Amino acid sequence: MNIDIENLVRKNIRALKPYSSARSEFTGKASILLDANENAFGSPLSENYNRYSDPEQKKLKKRIAAVNGVEIENISIGNGSDRLIDNLIRIFCEPGKDSIITCPPVFSMYEVAGHLNDVTVERVLLNDHFQLQTDKILEAATTQTKIIFLCSPNNPTGNSMQPGDLQKIIDNFKGIVVVDEAYIHFARQKSILSLIHANNNLVVLQTLSKAWGLAGLRVGMAFADAAITSWMARVKMPYNVNSASQKLVLEALDKDRQMAVWRDTLVEEREKMETELKQLGFVKIIYPSDANFILIRFKDSLKIYDYLASNGIIVRNQGSQPGLHNCLRFTVGTPKENKQLLAALKNFTN
Ligand SMILES: *Cc1c(COP(=O)(O)O)cnc(C)c1O
Repeated sequence: MNIDIENLVRKNIRALKPYSSARSEFTGKASILLDANENAFGSPLSENYNRYSDPEQKKLKKRIAAVNGVEIENISIGNGSDRLIDNLIRIFCEPGKDSIITCPPVFSMYEVAGHLNDVTVERVLLNDHFQLQTDKILEAATTQTKIIFLCSPNNPTGNSMQPGDLQKIIDNFKGIVVVDEAYIHFARQKSILSLIHANNNLVVLQTLSKAWGLAGLRVGMAFADAAITSWMARVKMPYNVNSASQKLVLEALDKDRQMAVWRDTLVEEREKMETELKQLGFVKIIYPSDANFILIRFKDSLKIYDYLASNGIIVRNQGSQPGLHNCLRFTVGTPKENKQLLAALKNFTN
């Protein structure tokens, strides 16, 4: 759906005069930079980081745009996609007044970011198959609801949302629909990224933290119509992506073959693990995964959690999420780590 984005933006954000950095004010060619109070001598390192990072991340955006078939104007880069989630809420949700919708069991950052911003969080649970209850979501949306957060493939359940359900929400909600595709590289289903061209209310989030193996660099992307990314540019901190990250990410993006090999190996390992884990008597359900982790329901998940921890293997307890009683989430590791995990589980006795 196409909506009036400007009208949806909070009043104070519309009135905001953003911070203007030294480097973005000057557009000519300079050889002596005495405008930003940097240390002109250099850095006490083998490489220099004495200059502020490019506030617009132009080289990085150009590269990411080319890979994804979008324009530079369709991209906003954040210090992790966590940061982008918070910025989206800041742009569209009036504290103490507006609300967002999340669909648990799901990544908890949407809710945390909502509460951080004093925004009401409405929860419309996924159904028994961990799919969206589209009618209920649309019914729950009021004029105060500014953003619906969806996650596909979904963390922590691992499944992808049905494309028709995503489309239905994008088509019918007169606010912002955020579809978080952090795990899209591992999915059988394709990204819905190209839908941003026909729907200015859609924001697709992706990250370099998962398949790309760059979690420590903190780089996430939002893809959307320029009507949205231009507001994201206004609310972000001026030098939000540091120079080391910008440089290293560009280097990493050249190694897409390495990434593809790891991704393919990981998907094979995931399938192998699913087969092996089915053999274990205390495993109740293995949920099919489109991500780099597997959600498993046990007879008694706490016993398994403690047992694995005592063997130095840390997994994620998901038992407190709605509908995930006795569930643990296992990230798929290297073949060696997965073997060790399986060996430990085979030795488990109640
Ligand atoms: C891991 C994850 C992210 C990534 O966050 P970054 O801040 O980019 O590291 C985003 N969304 C979901 C659902 C995740 O699981």
